[in-house]
Amino acid sequence: MHDLTVDSLTTTILDIPLVRPHKFATTSMDAQPLLLVEIRTAGGAIGYGEGVVPGGPWWGGEAVETMQAIIERYLAPVILGRRVDEITAIMLEVERVVAGAQFAKAGVEVALHDAWARALGVPVHVLLGGAYRDGVEVTWALGSAPVETVIAEAEEKLDRKLHHSFKLKMGALDPAEDTDRVIAVAEALRGRAGVRVDINARWDRLTALRYLPKLAAGGIELIEQPTPGEQLDVLAELNAALPIPVMADESVRTPHDAFTVARLRAADVIAVKTTKCGGLARSREVVAVAHAAGLACHGATSIEGPIGTAASIHLACSQPGINFGTELFGPLLFAEELLAEPLRYGDGGVALPTGPGLGVDLDPAAVAAFTRS
Ligand code: MN
Repeated sequence: MHDLTVDSLTTTILDIPLVRPHKFATTSMDAQPLLLVEIRTAGGAIGYGEGVVPGGPWWGGEAVETMQAIIERYLAPVILGRRVDEITAIMLEVERVVAGAQFAKAGVEVALHDAWARALGVPVHVLLGGAYRDGVEVTWALGSAPVETVIAEAEEKLDRKLHHSFKLKMGALDPAEDTDRVIAVAEALRGRAGVRVDINARWDRLTALRYLPKLAAGGIELIEQPTPGEQLDVLAELNAALPIPVMADESVRTPHDAFTVARLRAADVIAVKTTKCGGLARSREVVAVAHAAGLACHGATSIEGPIGTAASIHLACSQPGINFGTELFGPLLFAEELLAEPLRYGDGGVALPTGPGLGVDLDPAAVAAFTRS
């Protein structure tokens, strides 16, 4: 019998260059930092997870540097010496020693799943109840570039049949100008691809009340998190006023958040991220609450690298409640490949990896090349 005892937990910060700068409402990044979490069992199984946020601490207060400190100083002592098949007990203990820090917790929780599944010789989705589909569709995020640049990028993705829908980031520009910009993109792609927008909580209530109806009338198919995450009553008011779906992202990190959004009818769709939810088990709880309330879920991303993206694909392929597409494009935004064999993108989606664990293997030379010195 394989010895499942965790005998090492190490973290490494990587900086992966992107194919183009990726702009958000408040920041732009040209490289994505990843915290690689490696867990080894006494029996020789190795599991990986990623601590990853979109670019830096602007989204939720965590960054690779804070995750590294939390994991090495506070989480490792709780995990070392435990068995990887004790994930539930380990994560309860983790909650006792560290509040919040969901992104850091997700990195170790996914690494535990990967190591356990590899020790068993099964894919991670088996630990999540089994896959019911072998791939998911993937929306592409166009960032906050000028109209012509964004349309050209979308046309190129459509020509190559890589993606059939697009998400634009908003909130960096004057709202009137920003609204005209995304409506111009939606009009250019009308009938060929759906366009949705993510405002990343940057608008206040009055700005949202003024411009969201214009976006809906202009052909935008979905509005993601227009207003601050904690203002659920405002989100509910906007959702009631709009003829198109509203998606909650910053508003939902926990199953209780999902319950509150459902109770207030604050959104129609919940963006589920294995990262912000604190791992695979907690993400499944969020999906279950949403599903029970009749809400849809979207397989969302924090611009994960290939390890985090593979984990999110295993989740999405095992949870019928993730029924509103995905944006698991992270590795396509990376200029460098970290895997020995890349994830398989094409035909508007990405395939579920089939090997043991997460089903992906890091290329040690690439990991070494992008390790922060
Ligand atoms: Mn978002």
